[in-house]
Amino acid sequence: MARLVMKFGGTSVADLDRIRNVARHVKREIDAGHQAAVVVSAMAGRTDELVGWCRAAAPLHDAREYDAVVASGEQVTAGLLAIVLEGMGVNARSWQGWQLPIVTSDAHGSARILDINGTELLKRFTESGEVAVIAGFQGVHPDSGRITTLGRGGSDTSAVAIAAAIGAERCDIYTDVDGVYTTDPRVVPKAQRLDKVAYEEMLELASLGAKVMQVRSVELGMVHNVRIFVRSSFDRPEDIDPRADPPGTLICGEEEIVEQQVVTGIAFSKDEAQIAIRRVADKPGIAAAIFGPLADANINVDMIVQNVSGDGMTTDLTFTVPAADYGRATDVLKKVRKEVNYERLDGATDVAKVSVIGIGMRSHAGVAALAFKALAERRINIRAITTSEIKFSMLIDANYTELAVRTLHSLYGLDKE
Ligand code: ASP
Ligand code: MG
Repeated sequence: MARLVMKFGGTSVADLDRIRNVARHVKREIDAGHQAAVVVSAMAGRTDELVGWCRAAAPLHDAREYDAVVASGEQVTAGLLAIVLEGMGVNARSWQGWQLPIVTSDAHGSARILDINGTELLKRFTESGEVAVIAGFQGVHPDSGRITTLGRGGSDTSAVAIAAAIGAERCDIYTDVDGVYTTDPRVVPKAQRLDKVAYEEMLELASLGAKVMQVRSVELGMVHNVRIFVRSSFDRPEDIDPRADPPGTLICGEEEIVEQQVVTGIAFSKDEAQIAIRRVADKPGIAAAIFGPLADANINVDMIVQNVSGDGMTTDLTFTVPAADYGRATDVLKKVRKEVNYERLDGATDVAKVSVIGIGMRSHAGVAALAFKALAERRINIRAITTSEIKFSMLIDANYTELAVRTLHSLYGLDKE
């Protein structure tokens, strides 16, 4: 017997037929003798619709009321799934965040989970084998007693947090893809599903554009050592052999990964913009004068490259921001021009960041040099480079993204035979 968390995303609960399919997945685990807490998202598109209604009601609305509205999507699916399970003879009860409770901070719209009380769930597992169907994405702030939501994609985080709270053996994330791939299969048809990926690698993949899971949920999994299994919800429950390992990707600790590749995956993001500040004074305080105001404007700066000046007087400073913030960033920089005293501001929005990820890089030298050579042979110019222990990223012209990703994917032996 195992204790499992099963999480189903929006496309997996998009209509009643799919909810019935989900219920059969749950029944399959219960029939196999397991205990299950099921976490559900809102039906596909529902949260977008609810968010849209809030904006239409008033562009600047109270975040507490936004949460009251958008949390309702998950309430519906939790109730419906419990009804369908009951109809199949499975003992089930729905739970909203405030009922457990799932205690969060008061940052409405992007609250953080602080504590989950799993006692009642555990009691019911053992006493009556009751399945808990929990509304994802929501919690409650204890002082105000008001409903909170965890930020878009937050039901992944709900699921992992609940798995930690009830000591689940595994947190299964049922989704519309059958696992985590070495890169986006739409770009590289030879991309392969990874059997296992380390938390740290998944964090890089997730934050660099592989949109499988909310980044917060992977962080939480890493902190609490929750084994997360990404698998397809579209497999027919009847076709799953309970004795065989199902297809999917396990996100786990490094120690569980025996055969470690040097490179695990290639991620890319086209939502980048590059800003170059030309000929700023090379003296203390300049970086602070530039990046302080950007941080105050809530603009996330990513890659930063600064040269050592040749003349000891001035230098160039290059960095990237999300493309969506490009206009705001240049506005901020124009405002500080007097103080910073740069000669010129250059920008480009047609750039992409391509990243190579793998914990094996810690113990292997020369991994990045191979990439530089391969891209040079394809005449792809690298505009900026950053590195960390387990990844390096290169900024290139967006037109070359696909070519660069394909080149690197085969260079590091990730292509499917
Ligand atoms: N329904 C919420 C959203 O669309 C939460 C989730 O699905 O994870 O963002
Ligand atoms: Mg999601």
